[in-house]
Amino acid sequence: MKDHGISDEITSKGYRLTPQRMMILEAIEGSDDHISAEDVYTRVRKVYPHINVSTVYRTLELLKELGMVTETRLGDGLVRYHSIKKGHHHHLVCNRCGRVIDLPEEALNPLKEKLKSDYGFETDLKHLAIFGICSECRGKEGG
Ligand SMILES: [Zn+2]
Ligand SMILES: [Zn+2]
Repeated sequence: MKDHGISDEITSKGYRLTPQRMMILEAIEGSDDHISAEDVYTRVRKVYPHINVSTVYRTLELLKELGMVTETRLGDGLVRYHSIKKGHHHHLVCNRCGRVIDLPEEALNPLKEKLKSDYGFETDLKHLAIFGICSECRGKEGG
């Protein structure tokens, strides 16, 4: 059940779940952390040596459109993906040392509420990277 939730959803939306798509999904779901398209490609290629990197990108786009994976840029130029099953969360990214701190979704609820009450704006904050300077790097500044 747990292993097939997403694949059921793909087929129910009229997309064919090819073995390659399946592998790509498994690579994302099987990674403990975020995974870049390049990492997905590396993993899938071990099983399907002839897979094309553009197939990986196209499938990731599809999964994103279907709302099954979220993507975010953590400042190192790579787009990272993770399965929607892992829940929504955000990240604080340090511009100096590149450290990434996980932030639970609830941490931004006050912001969400404020944007809704003040601007009537319903935010779609699924996976956000907030850039700044971490406490350690701020400490090094000596003030
Ligand atoms: Zn994340
Ligand atoms: Zn830092």
